[in-house]
Amino acid sequence: MPESLLAVDSLGVAYGDVRAVWEVSFRVAPGEIVVLIGPNGAGKTTIMRALAGLERPAAGSVWYESRPIHDVSAATPAHALAAHGIVLVHEGRHLFRNMTVLENLDLGAFTPRARPERDRTRRHVFDLFPRLAERQHQRVATMSGGEQQMVALGRAMMGLPRLLMLDEPSLGLAPLLVRDIFQAIRTLNQEGTTILLVEQNARRALALADRAYVIEQGRVAGSGTGEALLHDAHVQRAYLGGG
Ligand code: ATP
Repeated sequence: MPESLLAVDSLGVAYGDVRAVWEVSFRVAPGEIVVLIGPNGAGKTTIMRALAGLERPAAGSVWYESRPIHDVSAATPAHALAAHGIVLVHEGRHLFRNMTVLENLDLGAFTPRARPERDRTRRHVFDLFPRLAERQHQRVATMSGGEQQMVALGRAMMGLPRLLMLDEPSLGLAPLLVRDIFQAIRTLNQEGTTILLVEQNARRALALADRAYVIEQGRVAGSGTGEALLHDAHVQRAYLGGG
């Protein structure tokens, strides 16, 4: 499918003998926001980790910019994928807690593509998150959860992502900060970054999404536009607290 930035075909991922993801197929077109929703343990994180080269697929294929980035024999190393603009912001953030905001941000610009743009991108990050500019010399360990999530997003931006993958960016954040993080995601998308988002906050995520996939028990259980899924009876019952 040449118009896709990312095409996932029949992806399977296993932890040892235990299969976590089965026959998962989906597409992300350039400029889209695509969301994966589903219950805890459904395999969403596993899918993201496989796409980022952190888990080796047991089956299936993944195409990025029309090139295969995984085959069943060898996962492409995560740093090589980052060099091509695939950047994952992990659930739980994975920051260097004893380093400063500035040091964490600059580590995000490690690829040959991003390094020459580092100072300019950092100014962009500080425009989007003025709080990080104010606190650039503060150790990350001493920052609030919301501020740390901003650092994680900012560090991902420093890598100049073409496909930005976000795993539960709003987890554990107060409502006002959730709003800020979603607004930042929307801004990045409007600036041209394609987004693949895993979110517990299904209502907000579907409102933001161009398209979404429902992942249940390691499989795609439904898909549609964000708008259509907001009105889907199963999605309402299972994920929106309605019926
Ligand atoms: P959550 O929202 O709770 O993170 P998820 O949809 O992201 O859920 P995954 O974290 O991908 O789900 O987990 C999918 C399945 O794989 C679960 O049954 C989980 O227990 C299992 N799993 C995840 N990581 C590992 C691992 N490192 N080793 C073994 N099993 C794992």
